[in-house]
Order: sequence, then C-alpha cells, then structure tokens
Amino acid sequence: MEQQNELSFDTLVIGGGIAGSEAAINLANLNYKVILVEKDLSLGGKMIHLSKVFPTLDCAACITTPKVSETIRHPNITIYTYSEVKNIVKVSEKKFTATLVKKPRYVNEDLCTGCQECEDKCPVVVKDQFQYDLVGRKAVYVPFSIANPRVVNIDIENCILCGLCEKVCPVDAIDFTQEDVEIPLTVKSVIIATGFELFDPTQILRYGFGKFKNVVTAMQMERQLVPTRPYNSVLRPKDGKMPDNIAYILCTGSRDETVGNPICSQICCMYSVKQAQLLLGALPMADVSIYCMDIRAFGKGFCEFYQQAVGMGVEFHKGRVAKITEKENGNLILRYEDIEEGKIKEVEHDLVVLSIGVLPNPDAKLLFDSPVIESDEFNYVKQTDELLCPPDTNIKGVFVAGTSSGPMDIPDSILSAGAASACSANYIRN
Ligand SMILES: Cc1cc2nc3c(=O)[nH]c(=O)nc-3n(C[C@H](O)[C@H](O)[C@H](O)COP(=O)(O)OP(=O)(O)OC[C@H]3O[C@@H](n4cnc5c(N)ncnc54)[C@H](O)[C@@H]3O)c2cc1C
Ligand code: SF4
Ligand code: SF4
Repeated sequence: MEQQNELSFDTLVIGGGIAGSEAAINLANLNYKVILVEKDLSLGGKMIHLSKVFPTLDCAACITTPKVSETIRHPNITIYTYSEVKNIVKVSEKKFTATLVKKPRYVNEDLCTGCQECEDKCPVVVKDQFQYDLVGRKAVYVPFSIANPRVVNIDIENCILCGLCEKVCPVDAIDFTQEDVEIPLTVKSVIIATGFELFDPTQILRYGFGKFKNVVTAMQMERQLVPTRPYNSVLRPKDGKMPDNIAYILCTGSRDETVGNPICSQICCMYSVKQAQLLLGALPMADVSIYCMDIRAFGKGFCEFYQQAVGMGVEFHKGRVAKITEKENGNLILRYEDIEEGKIKEVEHDLVVLSIGVLPNPDAKLLFDSPVIESDEFNYVKQTDELLCPPDTNIKGVFVAGTSSGPMDIPDSILSAGAASACSANYIRN
C-alpha cells in the first residue's frame, strides 16, 4: 500500500450525494477549504439516477449535473471519488485526524479521456449495478453516461486480465500496478452525508422478488423512465413486452416490524405517485394501480400532486398486499385485503413495482474511532438537538446532513445540508 503526505483542510464532507455536494459548495463559497470524499465512482448519490422529481416533475439529471459540475470545478473543493475515510479521531477542539483511502481504478484518471474504446473491446459482461441489474456492462466501464468524473474503472474481480483494453487505449491510461493509497488527513470539522441504503426486497419472500421476473423495484422503474434508460421504452423483464396493467406495492420494507423497519420512509408514497404519472405518459394505454395503507402526501404541493394522479386515472386501493403468485405467462396475482370493502381480493397485473423503503447506511457508525458517533433508535446518525439544531451530533464539530439522519426527500436533504454547513462554519470561526 502506497503512503502519501498529510493533507489539511477546514472541513471534511463524507458522501457526495446531493446533501454532501450542497454542504461542500456552501462552505467553499464562504472561502473554507473543503475535502469531499465519495465512496462510489461518481458524485451525485441516488439523485443522479432518478427520472424526474416530485412534485414538480423537473428532470432529476438537469438539476443534479450542474450541482455536481459546480462541486467538481470549485477552487475551494478537493474531491476524492472511489475513496473512503477511516479512523476519525477528535484530537482537540477544531482538530480531527483521519485516514483517507483511495482505491485503485486501474486507470490513470489524469490521462483517461472517457473515450470508451477499451470498453468496446472488453470481452467480459456482468450485471450493471448503475442500471440496477436491468442490463449488462463490461469489466472496464464508464459507470453511467452522466458520471462525473467521466473516466473508466476496471472491475478487477471480474476482469480476466486479457489485456485488450491496454492494447487499444490511445493514451496508455490503463495501469494494472495501482494499489490502495493511504493519505493522513487533518480537518477542523466534519460533515457526515453518507446517505441511505435501499431495502432489499428479497427479504419479503412472499413478494417473489428475484424469483418472479416481472416483479421489479421502484429504483429499476426509475431507470426505465430516465432519458438515458437501458431500453427505449418501459418493458417487462421476463419477455420484453410493454406492460399494460401495472401495480405498485407501497411500504415494501417500511412501516413493517416484521422486517425490522417500523418507520415511514417518507418518499415512497410520492415517488410512486410520480412514477404512476410518468408511466401514463410513457404508456398511454396502460392502467396503473397503487396498493397502500394510506397516502402520506404531507409536503408542499404533494396533496395536489396526488389529486393530479387520481385525475389522470391512477387507481388507489387501500390494503396491504399479502402475497404474489406468478402465472405461466409471467403475469402476477396479488392477494390483498380491500380495507374499504372488508373483502379479500385477488387481482391480476402484468408488472409489479415494489416501492422499497429507506434504511440507514451502517457506514456512518464505522467512520469514527474516538469518540464514537452515536446512533438513534433506528440506527441513523443521532441528532442530539433535533428541534433547535438538527445538524448537531454527539461530537462537537461533527454535523449530519441529508438522509444520514433519517429518511427525507431532496428539498429537505438540501435544507439539512444548508444547516450543517452553517453550523460547521460557525464552529470553525468561533
Ligand atoms: C426510487 C426513488 C425515487 C426517488 N424520487 C424522489 C423524488 O422524485 N423527489 C425527491 O425529492 N426525492 C426522491 N427520492 C429521494 C432522494 O433520492 C433522496 O432524498 C436523496 O438522494 C438524499 O440525498 P443524500 O445526499 O442524503 O443521500 P444519497 O443520495 O444516498 O447520497 C449519499 C452519498 O454518500 C456516499 N457514501 C455512502 N457511504 C459513504 C462512505 N462511507 N464514504 C464516502 N461516501 C459514502 C454514497 O455513495 C452516495 O453518493 C427518491 C428515492 C428513491 C429510492
Ligand atoms: S483486461 Fe480486463 S478490463 Fe481489460 S479488456 Fe480484458 S477483461 Fe476487460
Ligand atoms: S482508459 Fe483509455 S481507452 Fe479507456 S476510456 Fe480511458 S482513454 Fe479511452
């Protein structure tokens, strides 16, 4: 492992989703020097993978990409993607030490132009995690079309070391000698913006995700609805047919003690209402039904957005789906209790979308050696003064932004990042 000289900054922002980017830009605009560390290959978090956003139906990429570009180009922000921090220690007030670990991409980032000639030649195809397994990608790959930085990565676990990429690269950017680089770091404050994880629906066996091909997640549906979508239309995975009777199952992995997540994910009702409207635009002849306990349309313009969906013909059914079974043709039978009529019903759909919930990212807990960061009862980063100073954590000088502290939508993540950056600036200055 290669070692490098110590780096020193005002604030360390961990996580380059919308909350991390917003916090970094705010501080950088106040002339603080910021280091932003992102675990993944690109900035943008979950938002960069979304289609449009509720309730305005603005294009998610059109909002995220300028924000990501601004973060990358800001002279006061230094970015490390495909990197992590560990062993954070508070040495004294306004002095934290940590170790930054830069993982090898096996490509020289300064040389790679993102031309993808190597990708064309690579013979290995594996599932594309950025398209949520809907299609394949090569072992050497640009993560996704609007990734930033736009350089390739070699997935060394699947690479067969054939050397074809090395042969065709016009700028000799492929470098199989790269290894982890560790860099000691000193900062005055820390912002945790490590975001959330998605509920794994294979945990609910009765919904058949992973077994019934026409049961997909809402994130897979987001990918089918984006302009950079894997297919040219919305298709059923089993046979590539266009669906015409689609069901959404809300609260998959939320408000459910049986899977250990009793709380509301706050976003699934509205993203399902959004997707239903987008589907009616993409497939005008389709029927869309939403099965739910209730619709939580609590934010500004949300109730009107829900009513708009009702007006467009989206059907809402009150009742939790108990079980899905698959017919030979790939269609799915949903068994549920219609709460309003007090009857058990069975209905047939040709595609089912699971509105999967939000879970805490366990990484946040592992970042700190001393003192340790405290979690709340649901395993999110604990806000020690939730009412009067929501960004505060149990460590003075460490603040939390976005969904690291609990489920929230994009506007609330941005607001929370604004508050975290203000608290961080205040802490450094006083
Ligand atoms: C299907 C779906 C549809 C949605 N639609 C909408 C919508 O229409 N409108 C809306 O307002 N909201 C929507 N949301 C919610 C939205 O995605 C979130 O509000 C938003 O992404 C939260 O941003 P964040 O920065 O807090 O977290 P994230 O987007 O999760 O970003 C966190 C970042 O931190 C990085 N990270 C994680 N661990 C580490 C680590 N240890 N070190 C360094 N980096 C790390 C991650 O790689 C990631 O880049 C939707 C969510 C889903 C799942
Ligand atoms: S060496 Fe690996 S990444 Fe390069 S072309 Fe061969 S399989 Fe693909
Ligand atoms: S590694 Fe070389 S061939 Fe591959 S995208 Fe980068 S510049 Fe192009």
